[in-house]
Amino acid sequence: MKMILLGPPGAGKGTQAKLISERYSIPHISTGDIFRKNISQKTSLGIKAKEYIDKGQLVPDELTIDIVNDRLAEQDCKNGFLLDGFPRTVKQAEALEDFLRKNNQKIDTALLINVPSEFILERMTGRRVCPSCGASYHIKFNPPKSEEKCDACGSDIVQRKDDTEETVKDRIDVYEKQTQPLADYYKSKDQLFVVDGTQSIDEVFETICRHMESEK
Ligand code: ADP
Ligand code: AMP
Repeated sequence: MKMILLGPPGAGKGTQAKLISERYSIPHISTGDIFRKNISQKTSLGIKAKEYIDKGQLVPDELTIDIVNDRLAEQDCKNGFLLDGFPRTVKQAEALEDFLRKNNQKIDTALLINVPSEFILERMTGRRVCPSCGASYHIKFNPPKSEEKCDACGSDIVQRKDDTEETVKDRIDVYEKQTQPLADYYKSKDQLFVVDGTQSIDEVFETICRHMESEK
């Protein structure tokens, strides 16, 4: 199963990606996670990416496309993968298609988690993440069992630096201008499936699973 997850920041892509990747045993590839790991390790990619991420802008295509191609070339992606947060521009989508075509592959489903902008600010400012294992929580909608600690590994959970109100507004703007056109891109290829992301986490996951089963 080769799948991409589309949707505005805060739509629930990372949350669903984790569930889908466990259910269908496919690697979850998040470009945001790859950048954050590079930032924490202070690699040259991380230093360059940080400049854009802190401002809520997209990291340039030239930097982003290569890291995804390298990741998709790894052995664990041979039977499927789930891309979360990539592609975010038409240029990235075209590069992905080219890469897959060269390997006689194509995307099965582009899953758009649709959430209107009025939900997004609360979702994102309430998001807390575990810097050790990457688990994601929400102070109201998906709180950890023990306040401020990750359920999975016990580390202190934190707020992402780019989840402040000001940066979130910029990120929504960037999404509408640069990423939203991808819905039409995948619709025209008959690969788009839209799920209502205002439902609960479990309901969204059930809807996605039903769709995946019907595609088998
Ligand atoms: P994205 O990866 O699309 O930016 P996340 O998966 O990190 O989004 O979700 C953003 C925030 O919203 C997180 O705090 C998450 O716990 C919460 N969340 C995700 N899905 C839902 C949902 N269906 N209902 C309410 N809150 C949700
Ligand atoms: P995310 O974790 O998906 O919310 O991504 C966090 C940030 O990383 C984004 O706001 C961008 O600055 C950057 N980023 C992640 N994925 C991409 C991508 N495909 N193209 C460009 N920038 C990206």
